[in-house]
Amino acid sequence: QARGSGNSVALFKGGLDRECARRMALMSELRGAIERDELMLWCQPKLQVKSGRVCGAEALVRWKHPRLGMVSPGDFIKHAENTGLITPLTYWMLDAALRQLYAWHEQGEWQPLSINLSARDLHDPKLLERVEGALATWGAEPGWIEFELTESALMLDPTAALETLSRLKRLELRLAIDDYGTGYSSLAYLRQLPVDTLKIDQSFVHGMQRDQGCEAIVHSTIELAHSLGLSVIAEGVEDQATLTRLDALACDMAQGYCISRPLPAEEFKGWWMQKARH
Ligand code: C2E
Ligand code: CA
Ligand code: CA
Ligand code: CA
Repeated sequence: QARGSGNSVALFKGGLDRECARRMALMSELRGAIERDELMLWCQPKLQVKSGRVCGAEALVRWKHPRLGMVSPGDFIKHAENTGLITPLTYWMLDAALRQLYAWHEQGEWQPLSINLSARDLHDPKLLERVEGALATWGAEPGWIEFELTESALMLDPTAALETLSRLKRLELRLAIDDYGTGYSSLAYLRQLPVDTLKIDQSFVHGMQRDQGCEAIVHSTIELAHSLGLSVIAEGVEDQATLTRLDALACDMAQGYCISRPLPAEEFKGWWMQKARH
């Protein structure tokens, strides 16, 4: 195998289009990128809808590629999931998030960070040990870290999901169901999971302004979540009108471009400090 040598790319370039060749080259470099620390922690702020206060951020990975510049997770997460590279990537994010929280804590102020877990992480026999070890290494305070798991990952193997979530919950971590509404799960199942928050998928949030159906789904999800004692966050909020509507529907938290795009972690701190002054 010509991993990392570039030869495989040259061979394929003739037959495949540019984009495809670029992808192949990129994928062969991912393992090295994790080892060489080319990944970056970016943060997308979350607001408490009613008060307008910052209440944390989602941790999103970026790959600072030496030649190609900033690469988005859409270009490599699927590949990482399929090849098992997601395991070291998840560990990298966990460590990066806790390192950042430690630094913020030392500086006197911090915001909780939510880390994305993939379906494959639910089957990682070392996950719990790794999480526990990292929390201890950085002296994590309760509330520093939350995990987001997509509804579809949870549905793929409900038994493993319940097992892993229960063990994470015993470490007193907050848990959220991501992309809610896209996984066709039954609430009878979801309510057995020890989760704190439902995150409504952005496809419903985008549709709210023009589609009554979307708004009805968002509305009923909020009511249902509240009646089960869960808090609700809407993702993909792109305009003020949607944010205002979410406030009227008693949605607890919001995240999206109209609040802020994802930012490098240091810029996120500047952003929240600035916000607190106004
Ligand atoms: P996600 O977990 O659903 O994350 C939200 C994605 O929506 C992010 O894309 C974010 O930049 C984007 N977004 C936020 N606000 C808006 C908005 O108002 N409008 C629109 N159109 N998009 C918005 P990003 O950063 O490219 O990440 C894409 C996906 O990659 C994430 O979707 C997540 O599934 C995955 N991902 C990112 N970082 C990690 C990671 O560290 N680990 C794992 N396992 N997956 C990750
Ligand atoms: Ca997420
Ligand atoms: Ca999401
Ligand atoms: Ca999504």
